[in-house]
Amino acid sequence: MTAAQKENFPPQLLEELATIKTAALSDDYAYRQVAHLTENIGPRISGSPQAKAAVEYVADQLRELGLEVKLEEVNVPHWVRGSETAELVEYPGQARGTSQKIVLAALGGSTSTATEGLTADVVVVNNFDELKSLGREKVSGKIVLFNEPFDKQMAAAGLSFVSYGEAVRYRSGGPKAAAELGASAALVRSVGNADYRLPHTGSSQPAGIPAGAVTAEDSDLIADLAAQGKVRMHLTLTPQKLPDVVSYNVIGDLKGSEHPEEVVVVSGHLDSWDLGTGAIDDGAGVAVAMEAAEVLQKLHLHPKRTLRVVAWMDEESGGSGSEAYTKKHSLEFPRHVAAIESDSGAAHPLGFETRMTTGAAELLRPVFDVLQSFGANALQPSSYPPGADIASMSMAGVPALGLMQDGRTYFNYHHTAADTLDKIVPAELRENGAAMAVMGYALANMKNPLPR
Ligand SMILES: [Zn+2]
Repeated sequence: MTAAQKENFPPQLLEELATIKTAALSDDYAYRQVAHLTENIGPRISGSPQAKAAVEYVADQLRELGLEVKLEEVNVPHWVRGSETAELVEYPGQARGTSQKIVLAALGGSTSTATEGLTADVVVVNNFDELKSLGREKVSGKIVLFNEPFDKQMAAAGLSFVSYGEAVRYRSGGPKAAAELGASAALVRSVGNADYRLPHTGSSQPAGIPAGAVTAEDSDLIADLAAQGKVRMHLTLTPQKLPDVVSYNVIGDLKGSEHPEEVVVVSGHLDSWDLGTGAIDDGAGVAVAMEAAEVLQKLHLHPKRTLRVVAWMDEESGGSGSEAYTKKHSLEFPRHVAAIESDSGAAHPLGFETRMTTGAAELLRPVFDVLQSFGANALQPSSYPPGADIASMSMAGVPALGLMQDGRTYFNYHHTAADTLDKIVPAELRENGAAMAVMGYALANMKNPLPR
């Protein structure tokens, strides 16, 4: 160890970190929490009664742990899925009197078609340039399908977030680009990794037209048929945008014994999409953040700085929870020593993505050494904030860490009806709890605040 590492991590602290790790690796607290959030409460989309129940539940649980709990107000959108059906009603080689069913889901924030739906020709494009080159004349009044595939090979090689980043541009910006050329509706190929004909929902920039995600299989079908000739679709999407709702970030402080004003955030987001029950995205993240506090309380270990558990609201539908926190606390960011978020699933943790100075990251080596025994010791510097909810803190200079899970299967389930509790392997969740608790306590108890 360097002199600075030794100074910050004396033998007693390293022993405590090892004790926390051992305790967390046999602790089923996080699993019980995510089981309650997903099975008893269910899908927790912003503005829903389940999101409200989840806020109350997590607040109660954190109070039970002995934390100082605050609910901080957040104004959230309230969008409710309606019926969503589509069929191809005209296509080359069609058998008389038949149509072909298309499996899809509305994207968050999508507007509605008329109750009886709309019927229009489908135009398939592979990217924004193709859309642009078609121009208004060939797009106006049509249903535009963006058929950008998710790069499975990259995902299989461990770079699933790169595949996601590429493909998700069409989900987020496609409908708006199509609307600007007069399209009557926009569809995107689902941004996901598996082929079980599941649509993957997600947020999309407000476009003012109905917008949905078709399954990868249906996207291929439409593209193949459209390459042969005219394809016409009947599309019904009837979601509703209701008035905004007051919701909350749940904040639970385990007060620091020496520097209560210095804060280490451990967090995940409490809202989810509505198709599944939000187990891997992101009930698991909330649960491991809660467990970081639970393990310390169980072991009667006191953080010197405040360990702040945050269950963020509205990560999925606009990020208003993170925004509200920034508005309320940005003057305290110089004393936010570090912020951690877990929002990449619940699979085996590989380590942490870090956005901080190289010196700060190197100072944390002894902590990564503690995590090495179960393989969570990768220290991966990132130029981007490693978590959507901690992004503004990170941009303001707060050292930020993102728990980095094995992401090879994450996008099989992400934002689908299959994001359910069974996708979480209890032993892997325990590893995530251990990584979060060890890192959270290390940041709260190292001698000096992490340099920035
Ligand atoms: Zn998430």
